[in-house]
Amino acid sequence: MTVELQHIRAARERIAGKVERTPCVVSQSLSDRAGHTVHLKLEHHQTTGAFKLRGASNAIAALSADEKSRGVVAASTGNHGRALAHAAKLEGIRAVICMSRLVPENKLDAIRRLGADIRIIGNSQDDAQQEVDRLVAEEGLVMLPPFDHPDIVAGQGTLGLEIMEQVPDTAAVLVPLSGGGLAAGVASAVKGVSPRTKVIGISMARGAAMKASLDAGRPVQVEELPTLADSLGGGIGLDNRLTFAMCRGLLDDVILLAEDEIAAGIRHAYEEEREIVEGAGAVGMGALLAGKVGVSGPTVLILSGRNIDMGLHRRIVCGEAIAERAA
Ligand SMILES: *Cc1c(COP(=O)(O)O)cnc(C)c1O
Repeated sequence: MTVELQHIRAARERIAGKVERTPCVVSQSLSDRAGHTVHLKLEHHQTTGAFKLRGASNAIAALSADEKSRGVVAASTGNHGRALAHAAKLEGIRAVICMSRLVPENKLDAIRRLGADIRIIGNSQDDAQQEVDRLVAEEGLVMLPPFDHPDIVAGQGTLGLEIMEQVPDTAAVLVPLSGGGLAAGVASAVKGVSPRTKVIGISMARGAAMKASLDAGRPVQVEELPTLADSLGGGIGLDNRLTFAMCRGLLDDVILLAEDEIAAGIRHAYEEEREIVEGAGAVGMGALLAGKVGVSGPTVLILSGRNIDMGLHRRIVCGEAIAERAA
């Protein structure tokens, strides 16, 4: 199983009018620093504050009438749950979102306001997933997982189509990487249009499940730890069907960032770009600032989300809140 350009083009037609086409702008300060043009894909301005609405909207639009009547369920660190709740509300269908206790309160509130049922279970995504499995078995809900599903990957891939239209000469795209739905979809779209363009995944060093799995040659479990990039937390699933193989086949490299490098990305976004981004959305900027990206030529960074707790954002911008979290 894989997701190809034709699936991503079909997804784009399905979700047209339900998601924003987000702007892609030049960062003068990062271009000066890198010595080549650096573009920022401002996907944190997407409705619900993250790209996850693309996959969720596509997956819900692809359901049968019977599946819609049963409702949908997912485990989520927040942004997928929020996107699913939003897309389900638009279609008038029931959504149940299962989360671990690590999910920040601001993300919880946003999902609650969209009218979804919320279940808080255990300390990890895997614990939350067990509740999802129970609801599928006992109540007949349809599971729409955050990344390992062809309609989710195809929806996220629409971001890659937009990038190639907005910056046709892109040499490299830097993609925040967790379960790999975004990276797999974007890489499939980008390389489908422009095979020589590099796609590089970026994760936090604390609990980088996809990186550990790629190194091991199979999906492996890593301990989930608190990180400034909370949307990148969680495993890839030991029974991963889709995103592991796609990331192994399509990603040119994976870069890992320390917590202070992620914080530097958040600070840079705010001070230099006048943008508020969450940790996961700042890793491209963090990697570039840390000198960890060995690319020359036009580069696009995906700012994937903005749903950060604003108290935490203030402390990061003021240079606090790092020491207590640093590994
Ligand atoms: C989910 C998420 C990611 C990672 O996406 P995957 O498909 O799990 O790799 C990155 N950034 C933000 C803001 C997210 O919500």
